[in-house]
Amino acid sequence: MTTNEMNGNRRKQPPLRSCVGCRRVLPKSSLVRFVRSPDNAVAVDHSQTAPGRGAYVCQQEGCLKLAHQRRAFSRALKGAVEVPDFDHLWALVNHRDDAS
Ligand SMILES: [Zn+2]
Repeated sequence: MTTNEMNGNRRKQPPLRSCVGCRRVLPKSSLVRFVRSPDNAVAVDHSQTAPGRGAYVCQQEGCLKLAHQRRAFSRALKGAVEVPDFDHLWALVNHRDDAS
């Protein structure tokens, strides 16, 4: 038992998630997180802290388009979820709230 490893987070690997569009595995921080909103629609979780299951997509139009076409959100979020038009979805991704 090495207490050193438990105490220090410095060398910890960043959490990895796979993009539901291209399926590549990337650090969570470089992906966009989508969650199910209370009214059962897909919402962008820019802070990546919303509770519950998340679906991750690269911040790239191509990946988002793939995910949209494949209905990957409903699959990743384990149930039917309302997904807006692609253009609307892409606009949500790019509307970053940098205030926080
Ligand atoms: Zn991707």
